Amino acid sequence: MKRKKLIFIVLIISIIMSTILLFDKYYPSPGLSKVKIGDRMAIWAVTIILLIYYVRSNSKPQLVPSVLSSEKVANKERDKSNVSFKDVAGLEEIKEELQETIDFINNSNKYRKMGAKIPKGILFYGPPGTGKTLLAKAVAGETNSIFLYASGSEFVEKYVGVGAKRVRTLFERAKKEAPSIIFIDEIDAIGTKRNLESNNEKDQTLNQLLVEMDGFNTNETVIVIGATNRLDLLDEALLRPGRFDRHIFVGNPNMKAREQILEVHTKNKPLDKSINIIDIAKKTHGLSGAELANIANEAAIIAVRNNKTKISIEEFDAAIERVLAGLEVKNPTVLLKEKKTVSIHEAGHALVAKVLKTEMVQKISIVPRGQALGYVLKFPDEDRYLLTEQELMNKISALLAGRGAEQLVFNEVTTGAKDDLDKATSIAREMVCSYGMSSLGPMVVDEHYIKHNYEMLRVEIKKILDKGYKEALRILEENKDILHHVSNTLMEKETINSEELDDIFKIYEKPMDCAT
Ligand code: ATP
Repeated sequence: MKRKKLIFIVLIISIIMSTILLFDKYYPSPGLSKVKIGDRMAIWAVTIILLIYYVRSNSKPQLVPSVLSSEKVANKERDKSNVSFKDVAGLEEIKEELQETIDFINNSNKYRKMGAKIPKGILFYGPPGTGKTLLAKAVAGETNSIFLYASGSEFVEKYVGVGAKRVRTLFERAKKEAPSIIFIDEIDAIGTKRNLESNNEKDQTLNQLLVEMDGFNTNETVIVIGATNRLDLLDEALLRPGRFDRHIFVGNPNMKAREQILEVHTKNKPLDKSINIIDIAKKTHGLSGAELANIANEAAIIAVRNNKTKISIEEFDAAIERVLAGLEVKNPTVLLKEKKTVSIHEAGHALVAKVLKTEMVQKISIVPRGQALGYVLKFPDEDRYLLTEQELMNKISALLAGRGAEQLVFNEVTTGAKDDLDKATSIAREMVCSYGMSSLGPMVVDEHYIKHNYEMLRVEIKKILDKGYKEALRILEENKDILHHVSNTLMEKETINSEELDDIFKIYEKPMDCAT
């Protein structure tokens, strides 16, 4: 890199000198007239040679992956991972599963004597930010192995053979410096299913990876860990025994794991005594480890901005809101009429969600954030893994309640429900196509079926959405006073928290019938 920079600087200087000498021919200046024609020619020639060299060196593809490129010369110590299992919160069952692999690397002789083969490939799959890279680094840290990181996309090149060459060099280095862990992130970039129209370069790269994985023998302690968000896209050959034969799902953390992740990421931060990590874990349902780490960091930044010496719950709430709903728009220019529409829309969502108990409403706001003019923050009171048909219907009703409220109050609807419609339609589609919750009966509908029976499926999806919408309208109509009360409070204060919402509901609570 330094050499390239030096050449670039010399090239710029010689271009400037050449240009000055060239113009001197037409506008002679006394100082330069002494430069002989031979010297001038030499400077021009050097400039042209440097220019050609620079252009050519920049267009040449790099034949080694970035982890091995010249600016990252092999440095055993630097490539050692300092992450251990202590830094990975939650994911206990995965750590337990990986323990055997770690033992294999640390005590390989024990296994070899028994004739057991070292597992070559482990595949982590699951949503983004759930700790796949962190786990791979921890395996390297726990075994004191070299950690070689490569992203699938850096093997994808337009020049045929370059990706394959990069795979080869990566494995060569891993074998030379074993024990080592090769981590290939986004492995789907090179490992997707091969088909007739597929691209030659990608196939060559994948073939090379398969060859390399078959190639290393039991004496070389090299483990390849792949990570992907889409296991279903990967080529069968990559997943068969002897290659990536251990598939480990790394999902979003549950309540307990969220608490542990937040503890890891607040360990070195000064927290106010009033902070209860369990409460924060409850409010962050569905978020990934990366998002939780981001919330902890964001809370610290907000505390500094507020000139605080400790991070309090207000900073955490602000950080959660920032991550869930986006950046607050400063000085929004929302028309008064639009503000009223948004307040009715959000009040509708909150009202139906509360009546149907779909989730706990944490906050309602009409302060624009990100692209939304308003939002309702809600979270389930416990982690759920199974949902009943009725619960899915309730979710649809809560999603469509914003549009329903607009219809009920203004007798017209706006474009504000686009995102809600997307989400509600997607739940209804899943109910019909994946969960067998429609009049089509207990069946799964595949792509092929959808293509040829689209109209029938559309009718089923519409039936579900209409039913959910009708229920939302019924609840809104029955609780019209609460709807207006919530909307008016929002117009006045812009936000309402869960306690304030409870108080509004209490005002309209019907007294219990007393037996006479
Ligand atoms: P992607 O699929 O997008 O590559 P990933 O699953 O590899 O994401 P990581 O890069 O491992 O996710 O995680 C990002 C960050 O999130 C980590 O550096 C860490 O700070 C935090 N994190 C995620 N999961 C955990 C966890 N279980 N414990 C502690 N920190 C975590």
